[in-house]
Amino acid sequence: MPAYASPRRYMLTFVLCFVAIGLLEIAAYWINGRIVAQQQEVARFAQVADRQRTLSLRVALLVGEYTEAADPQVRVAKHRAISQAAQEMTRLHTLITKGDPASGYRVPESNRIDQIIFGDPIFLDQTLRLFLSGVDEILGREWSADLAELPYMDDIRAAASGSLSTGLERLNEAMRDAGDDKVDELEIALIASTVGMVLVIFAMAVLVLVPMMRRLESQTDELIDLATTDPLTGSLNRRSFMREAEAEFARFRRYGNRFAVIMIDIDRFKKVNDTYGHAGGDSVIRALTRVCLEQTRSSDVLGRMGGEEFAVLLPEATIDSARIAAEKLRAALEAEVVHHEGREIRFTASLGVAVAGDDDTEILKILSRADDALYVAKNGGRNRVEIDVTSPGGSDAGADATAPSVPT
Ligand code: GH3
Ligand code: MG
Ligand code: MG
Repeated sequence: MPAYASPRRYMLTFVLCFVAIGLLEIAAYWINGRIVAQQQEVARFAQVADRQRTLSLRVALLVGEYTEAADPQVRVAKHRAISQAAQEMTRLHTLITKGDPASGYRVPESNRIDQIIFGDPIFLDQTLRLFLSGVDEILGREWSADLAELPYMDDIRAAASGSLSTGLERLNEAMRDAGDDKVDELEIALIASTVGMVLVIFAMAVLVLVPMMRRLESQTDELIDLATTDPLTGSLNRRSFMREAEAEFARFRRYGNRFAVIMIDIDRFKKVNDTYGHAGGDSVIRALTRVCLEQTRSSDVLGRMGGEEFAVLLPEATIDSARIAAEKLRAALEAEVVHHEGREIRFTASLGVAVAGDDDTEILKILSRADDALYVAKNGGRNRVEIDVTSPGGSDAGADATAPSVPT
């Protein structure tokens, strides 16, 4: 039997595999969460950049309207609207350039984004500051028709429709790309954790389930062996022999296939034990088993019925063929020499033969008739084969067999 790890070890491996699966599951959950958060960040940023662009266009428009408004009431309203929009733009500008840690809004670490905000040629940060300071300049001055002629006005319009707008668009694109890259990385990590999980499950099957099933299988075989065979000789025990005999009897009842049973009992076995010890007796019992197996067909069934008493079931046998088989067996047993602790043990056995008959309603009747024949053999002087005369053909064959057998 192959060596198996202890159940405790399998259990430990099993638990470790489950812990590994649990950890991978947690990692996958976390990665999934990060992917969603990342996509949300990009979407939020896109909204901020879009809003900033819309606001810059609105402010440029409002400033134009303000400088041309003849009605003082309209001017007040426009002034207030521009001022509010400019404040909002300042807030959004801080978000774009610095983020807002309080609300978890972070600017992704990316050279491309830094370049757009602070570098050549877009200088988004600077452009927006100039735009807002131009707006401040207009709003801070006393209104006059000359306001429209100030150079700030052109700067504001040009920035709103040109560099500011382009810069914000580029920033948006760069943000999306940075987000996509991050999501790609996270997706690879997710695939790795899923592959890891599959591997752990596979390892669990190979390291735990397969060996456990093998162990179970081999232990079941062992248990079946223990339950069906006799530990001293390895032949079928009484219960298993009876099961085989019952099945043979059922076949006989259904199809009429006759069969024979030979009962074997070692002669004066107590004396063997007394002379050579129990271990010597055991050697004799094992030798008898071996001889019986050698002398019978593979289709015949040998069982140890108890102590030094055995039975052989011979399918398809008639009383004559069974008698011949029994006689052959008797002679072989008589000729057998058992070597035990430097001594030679010789022994003989008596055999009783019976064949299934039409009057038999159960297997026990046939066994009992074989036992009766064995009893006759014992009484007739032992080391003989006796036929049950009530078996089909027994009265003819029995006449021969009752004669004392001649040792060879
Ligand atoms: P008989 O010729 O009438 O059969 O005489 P016998 O001495 O063989 O009588 P019996 O069949 O009653 O004796 C059976 C003996 O077998 C008694 C018991 O001590 C012995 N025996 C039973 N099982 C074992 C066993 O497994 N090993 C050994 N060594 N002896 C056993
Ligand atoms: Mg006996
Ligand atoms: Mg005996």
